[in-house]
Amino acid sequence: MDDVYKLYNNNASPKVHIKEYFDNYSKLISSTNCFISMKRDSRDIMALMGVQLDEEEMSMLTSYCSVDNLTMEGELPKMANNRKMRKKGTFDPREPEDIDLKTIQNLRQRLKQDEKRLPYKYQSELFINYPKNEETHKVRIIPGQDIFVFVRVYRPFTHRPKIAPKKELDSLLHLSHVFAVLGSQTLAQLRDKISCIADHSISKECSENLDNAIGPMAKDVYKSGFFFIEDTFYNDTRDPANIDYSKVIREWARRRPKLGPFKTAIMEECRIDSLCLRFGFPWVYKHQGGCEHLIVFSDARLVNSNDDLGITKYPRAVRLRPMFSRFCMICGVYNVQWITMEHERVPHNPCYFCDMCFKSYNYIDGKKVGKFEAYAYPRNTEAVKGKIEI
Ligand SMILES: [Zn+2]
Ligand SMILES: [Zn+2]
Repeated sequence: MDDVYKLYNNNASPKVHIKEYFDNYSKLISSTNCFISMKRDSRDIMALMGVQLDEEEMSMLTSYCSVDNLTMEGELPKMANNRKMRKKGTFDPREPEDIDLKTIQNLRQRLKQDEKRLPYKYQSELFINYPKNEETHKVRIIPGQDIFVFVRVYRPFTHRPKIAPKKELDSLLHLSHVFAVLGSQTLAQLRDKISCIADHSISKECSENLDNAIGPMAKDVYKSGFFFIEDTFYNDTRDPANIDYSKVIREWARRRPKLGPFKTAIMEECRIDSLCLRFGFPWVYKHQGGCEHLIVFSDARLVNSNDDLGITKYPRAVRLRPMFSRFCMICGVYNVQWITMEHERVPHNPCYFCDMCFKSYNYIDGKKVGKFEAYAYPRNTEAVKGKIEI
């Protein structure tokens, strides 16, 4: 397997047994007694320093030791917005006004265009800030003992051979979410948090009866899925009706000398910290028959006291890449709610409609006009009902 995908090894870490690594690390830092971030308030810090100070002395010491004092005369002022400074063309082209230089004119023009365009590069990953609610959790994580592992989950992609026409080569990878999952949690708990449009409502042809358009959620009907990590397929076996998607792949690989042998394991029994894997190496999550996502274990660290310590809060998405809505192809204003196929009065196949355009164009007094097939755009019916957060 490594022979086939050795290219990715350039960016990947050596194999790390997560539990063993962090057990050793915890021992190391507990023996040096230096892990201040585990300490919460000034009393803890004083105990660590081995001194007793009153409040006034402590605040004086805090201001003396502040990093703001680490400056010297003539030093450049601190950058207020480091992110913005990295962006090209951040200086203001409105000054000076009276210069006719072509470069200034071109710059003005370019910045005018940039204003209209969203700064995609800097919007690619948004951090999610959760409100801290410390009182409500009965089961709490112990800082310094459990670990966070960060998993980047990418949007589904289709792998096509290189000879496929360029237009169809839709293999660009886009991040979907970055999840923080606890070492004590299982791969199945991580799976339950991954949101994908393929898991949403099952659409069926409903042009004759729109009330019957939205079926159950696909993830509640077809529950099979696996993670492929380091030569092992971790299958979801929580439902007895689940299919082992890996079986056909393992049989296929048996006939290829460079691949395998592959092992299988049970997703819901696999603790995250029991994994031995390479960080930065792309692994696969597969569900709904053919929906494949790359996943990358990108980082891991000990939990510290500044983190949200409610165990039920995890796994959770800590970063996401915003998705752009698909708009109605008729009005271009509202979000898509309906898809039509084989529509005899529309030049697009498929064609995306908002609710208003769909009903006003295709029905008169509730009666279907012309020939077409209609499907409800897949949606997360739980989110629509407000049952889940993110
Ligand atoms: Zn998917
Ligand atoms: Zn519309």
